[in-house]
Amino acid sequence: MPIFLMLSKSLIRSFDTFVFDLDGTFWWYPKIVDGAKEIYRKLKEMNKKIVFVSNFSILDRDGMIRLLKKNGVPVAKDEIITSSYVASKVLKGKKVFPIGNGLEKELRKGGVKIVKNEECNIVVVGHDMNFNYKKASIALKILLRRNAKLYTTAYGKLWIFKDNLLPGTGLITSSLEYCSGKKAIMLGKPSKFMLEEIRKIVEGKVIYFGDEDEADIGFANEAGFFSVFIRNGVEKRISKNRPKATLKSLKHLLRFL
Ligand SMILES: [Mg+2]
Repeated sequence: MPIFLMLSKSLIRSFDTFVFDLDGTFWWYPKIVDGAKEIYRKLKEMNKKIVFVSNFSILDRDGMIRLLKKNGVPVAKDEIITSSYVASKVLKGKKVFPIGNGLEKELRKGGVKIVKNEECNIVVVGHDMNFNYKKASIALKILLRRNAKLYTTAYGKLWIFKDNLLPGTGLITSSLEYCSGKKAIMLGKPSKFMLEEIRKIVEGKVIYFGDEDEADIGFANEAGFFSVFIRNGVEKRISKNRPKATLKSLKHLLRFL
């Protein structure tokens, strides 16, 4: 059994920036988890920097802010880094065929040119509950050109929505990879593109809370952040990466604040 560091009030207080994954850690879309509102409020009172990181692309960042505010968490736009936002930075000024509404909105706001046909050389995958054969066909025609590129915002296998188990964005990413024979370039966590954006806004000592082995704990360890595994998220146990500490659920953080 790996030996975890015990969390304590003094250890928790020594961090300057608190990074939270969203799905399975801070919220079960569209509801935030127990204690999340109080955690946000207390950290603000303690003058800590707070950053949310997510590969969630159903909403753009403005939509996520509205949802969090409605749940009593008044976040600012510069506190959220999503894989769609990273896509908008990486693909700024380029012509792309996006899959998914939330991703499309974020790309438009970030100055990416959107096309709805085959007239481009870039396909970007976001979460799309209306993904269909027609969209797949357009994407595939683009991808089969020699210089075309496939990007994705997520490889998630599963997605829990309103207590219902659904396929994650990985369903779309992997089907396009399979049919085109091209490997997608990952923009979300645990990619270097995502880390680059996160590094621009975190300050001092960083603690990171997440519920996935590779996308959170591996990512945080690689970045040199203090990783905390949240055990009641999407992945109930992890085997590849070793977190610095674990919590049964996010609300257990409250006892250290
Ligand atoms: Mg998660």
